[in-house]
Amino acid sequence: MISNIRGLTFDDVMLVPGYNGIRSRQDVTTSVTVAGRSFEIPVISANMDTITGESMANAITGFGGMSILHRFMTIEANVAMFKRLKNPSKTGISIGIGEEAMPRAEALIAAGAEIICVDVAHGHSKEVNRTIRQLRETFGGNILIIAGNVATYAGADYLAAAGADVIKVGIGPGSVCSTRMKTGFGVPQLTAIQECQKVDRCIVADGGIRTPGDAVKALAAGADFIMMGGMLSGTDETPGDTVTRKNYDGTETKFKSFRGMASREAQEDFMGGMAEWKAAEGVALEVLAKGPVRNVILDLMGGIRSGLTYCGAINIKQLQRKAQFMEISPAGFHEGTPHASGRLTR
Ligand code: 5GP
Repeated sequence: MISNIRGLTFDDVMLVPGYNGIRSRQDVTTSVTVAGRSFEIPVISANMDTITGESMANAITGFGGMSILHRFMTIEANVAMFKRLKNPSKTGISIGIGEEAMPRAEALIAAGAEIICVDVAHGHSKEVNRTIRQLRETFGGNILIIAGNVATYAGADYLAAAGADVIKVGIGPGSVCSTRMKTGFGVPQLTAIQECQKVDRCIVADGGIRTPGDAVKALAAGADFIMMGGMLSGTDETPGDTVTRKNYDGTETKFKSFRGMASREAQEDFMGGMAEWKAAEGVALEVLAKGPVRNVILDLMGGIRSGLTYCGAINIKQLQRKAQFMEISPAGFHEGTPHASGRLTR
């Protein structure tokens, strides 16, 4: 049976410009409020071991965004890291659904954590439901529960009914993800966002954002936040050392590690090896070192502010109300990428 929904992603569409009554892109606001908590920018750094440790969390929350620490460390190390943070109220912690999940949540909530992310590759599952309910029963309404990942209305509705405040959307769009290749499953990300946002909860568009334009499309499609791994990878604030590689002509290039949490490499490091009954659903890379994450955030936020004015929207809620997507052809897409020939100087 073929679904009657045609799945589209960011490159399949463009936003159609609308009348703008806003004087300057400086006048728009990009803030988002979730369960009484305000964030100045709708950005979350992904809870991956090569993206969000202490330094990334401090940087992103310093810009007014949210950060979610990865969980691939002992509970003690996780607590110690959390206690050192500059903005603990804007930093989330992650748990899975295994035996360790509740003890980790308990220890981190005791240390002051208020944002808990229940993070499972296929979140439309009984075990995730059980974990959300257990968190609510144990800790009540004072914690913010983010849960995922899902890519359908049914999945988002299921997590909302279980008690999640925020639904994390994305099955297979990630830059180091191979789930769609390994399993054949997934929903193109723009459609996944549009479907999940029909549920009356905050939505995080997780994965597949490669440009500020993708971020604007994700927000316009109904996301309250965008979560990013690849865009932040290679920056100074990511965990891990910078390695210098010699090129054939004697020059040098600097790299940093970036890997999927379901890659063979990550599973060997954290899950005691790759079980024979499993296939890796992620890849491990060395990416170019990019310098301070500040440059990435400024470019991203500049694009989002400009995007709001192309729509004539003063804030993200207005963008979502007014946005009009046009499905485009491959030629239309190509036209929208820089295509003059010459030597790129900047
Ligand atoms: P990116 O911003 O790099 O496109 O996507 C980041 C997201 O990819 C993460 O937040 C997470 O949801 C997802 N992800 C991270 N590692 C893996 C992996 O190994 N496999 C899959 N399927 N998804 C991953």
